[in-house]
Parts: sequence; C-alpha cells; structure tokens
Amino acid sequence: MVTSKDLVGQRRDSLCSLDAGRADFDDPHFIVPNNLMSFSGDHDLISSTNFPKHKPQEEYVVLKEESAQTMNTLSDLSIVLSESRSPVLNMVLPSTNITSSNTREEPVSSSEDSLQSITPLSTPSMDINTDFALAFDIDGVLMRGGKPIPEAIEAMKYINGENPYGIRVPYIFVTNGGGKTEQERCQDLSQQLEIDVSPGQFICGHTPMREMADQYDTVLVVGGEGEKCRVVAEGYGFKNVITPGDIIKTRHDTTPFRKLTDDEFRDSRIVDLDKTQIQAIFVFADSRDWAGDQQIILDCLVSKNGYLNQRSETFNEGPPLFFSHNDILWSTSHEHSRIGMGALRASVEALYKAIAEKDLETIAFGKPQMGTFKFATRLLQEWCQKSHGIDKLPSTVYFFGDTPESDIRGTNDFDKVAENEWFSILVKTGVYQDGTDPRFAPKEICDNVLDGVKFAVEREQQKATQ
Ligand SMILES: [Mg+2]
Repeated sequence: MVTSKDLVGQRRDSLCSLDAGRADFDDPHFIVPNNLMSFSGDHDLISSTNFPKHKPQEEYVVLKEESAQTMNTLSDLSIVLSESRSPVLNMVLPSTNITSSNTREEPVSSSEDSLQSITPLSTPSMDINTDFALAFDIDGVLMRGGKPIPEAIEAMKYINGENPYGIRVPYIFVTNGGGKTEQERCQDLSQQLEIDVSPGQFICGHTPMREMADQYDTVLVVGGEGEKCRVVAEGYGFKNVITPGDIIKTRHDTTPFRKLTDDEFRDSRIVDLDKTQIQAIFVFADSRDWAGDQQIILDCLVSKNGYLNQRSETFNEGPPLFFSHNDILWSTSHEHSRIGMGALRASVEALYKAIAEKDLETIAFGKPQMGTFKFATRLLQEWCQKSHGIDKLPSTVYFFGDTPESDIRGTNDFDKVAENEWFSILVKTGVYQDGTDPRFAPKEICDNVLDGVKFAVEREQQKATQ
C-alpha cells in the first residue's frame, strides 16, 4: 500500500521549478526556458525526474549562478536571440517605414500594424545619445494607483531632449504587470506619460509565455479582468484557452460561493470536462477572485492528466503551473504595498501541501529572471536601431525599479553576465521604503525617477569628459 509519506517528493518530480524569483529569493539557480536564452558556459539539462510532466526535457536548461558568470559574450546571446521565435521580438525586425508623428497612434490590430506605430522622437536635429540607454519598471516608478507619478512625466520630457545637453536617450519599459495585450498597454502608457510608446519598446510579465503556445494546445488561463487574458493568450497562439469562468459556467458548484456576473456568464464557454485535457495552467495577471481561482487551480493540479472529471490517486499527475511573475508586493495608491501574484503563488503552494501532503513546485517568469533581461537586451537593441538608427549595443543600460527583490536583483545579476553595464537605480516612490535596507543593494538610490534620469545623464556626461 502506498502511504502519503511515500508520495512526498513525487509532486516535486512532476512539477519542477524554473523559478529564480522564489518567495525566499535564495534559490542559487537561474532556470529559464531554453528558447529564451543561451550562453556559452557550462549548463546542465534538468534531469528527467525533475521536469514538468508535459514539457520536453530538452526545452529547459538549468543555469547555475557560477555558470551564468562564465557567459562570455553578448554576441553569443545575440545569435541565440536572433533565433528566437518571439513575435514580440520579431515584430521590430522586418524592415519598416518608420512613420513620423507627434500624435498618439490609433489602436493597432496586429504586430505587423504595430510596426507602423514606432514613432521617432520629434526633433530630428537634436543630438541622439548613442552611449547609453534606459529601462524602466512601471508600477512604483512611473505609475502608482493607475496614475502617473508627477516626476515621471517630467522625466520622460527630460530624456526626450528637455535637458541641459539637448540629448535624447533611447528607453524601454520592462514590467512584471500584465493582463492586457502589449498594444493596449502601450496605448494606456502613451496617454498617461504624454509620450508615444510602441510595443517595440515594451515587455510585460506574460510576454515570454508567448514562447509556449506551440507546446500546449489546451490551457487554463487565470487572472485579469473579464475576457482580457483569454484574448491575450489567444493572440499569443494558444489554440484552446479555458478560463475559470468557463469551468464555473459548466459546473456552477465548482465554486459554491462564487456566482458569475451576467457579463461573465455571457462571455464564458461550456467545456466538455470529460474530453478536455488541460495541459498547462498559466496565471497571466493578478487574480480578481482568489478563492474561486485557487479552487480551480487546485482541482487541475490534483486531476488525472489534466482531466477535471478525474482525480489522481497520487496527486502528482496534474499539469504544470506557470506564473507570469513572482512579486509578492506591488505599489498602488494605498500608502502600504499590496499583495500580488507572488502571494497567490505562495498561497496555492501552501494549500496544495495541506491537501496533498507534499510540496508543489511551480514556475515563474518576469523579473528577476535572466530570460526577461535577455528579452530586454534584444528589445533595446532593436528599438535603438529602428527608432534612433543606432546599431551598437549601449555601453550602459540604467534600470529604474522600486522593488529590490525583482528589479534590483535582476539588474545586478544580469550585469554580472552581460557584455555591457547594467546599472541598477532604486527609486523611493514604490515598494521600497526610505530608511530601510534593501535586500538587494542598488548601485544608486534616488528619490524619484526624475532624479534618477538626471543622475544617469550626469554620470554619462562625466564619463564623456574624462
Ligand atoms: Mg514596480
């Protein structure tokens, strides 16, 4: 007879962690999907006993910290990234007529169309800086509670030429947030920051999940408002996207105390639970209904091979669970940080352990994952070329973040392996609280993003005159 004690650890065998952003942030390994990154140093394939059930072993590599430090050149990275199948990255690759416009772009319907929205800076005669670039986290740095931080608008003007040196600096946005298409989020950001933001300069938490659409046909997508994340997932190429609303509409007693609104009932779809095999679970954005989403995620995890009408006897036959990031806290209009997706992750893992009496290993993307920063490098290179005509890699990238555990840790780690310099700047307008010791020390701490960009520009001016 198999006892629960015998089963301890089997779940770990079935659902491996690809996460560098664990709640304790002490995992010595950076692990990312193989097709998101590569390196010239040593690497170990995950053993077959430590791998998500539905994922081919060769798709993953484990990058040990010491191995990461042996990564030689960014040209190696560039070669691999040039082979990336990411539509987000590829969308800035084809030759494109860059339109000149000072007005906000109309909504775009495809990545091809989005190329047309790449807008050069409005004063072509101004000097274009070619030596450095900027990368911004959004929540807590540029936005807070859905509104721009006042200094953020000034900072955008500053780096677009309104500075003592008349220089314009290339920049991209790298957020763990999500829940909308990249195009939709860029339109929002354009209005909020009073600049033109293109999908060609934007990465959000679920962007890397695009890479997995050809590996999983039927997926459960959790989080976000209404149908938005289903739309995002289908746009990424997932063929059969199921939401918690679909499950509740099909079986209303799935969540005893959660009733669908009229709109949710209208938009949700009936699912044949006997024939539908959920191959993977993706949490794209923050859950709006923790209790219901937790119930349905747990039902999938303890299902037999992803069939919700069948319960596994061993609790280790369910699909893998992916989160778009692991930020436990995030900054809103509330004076204290709010719990986010990382908290849901910790909660699901704890619930699973309480029910199955074994550990659940889950997978997180987003910062501080190395793959996200490699995405950012590629995006920045393409953006510099397309929008500024700059072919060389910026010698320094200044990364502005408010969360030491994701922004600062990721930047500092990537700085160790990247060919160019990645310089971390922590701002005081978000998660980080002034007067405390950040768990991961930045190269610089600034009151706000405007002070941060001024610091970066001045540092570069001093370097140029030395
Ligand atoms: Mg933030």
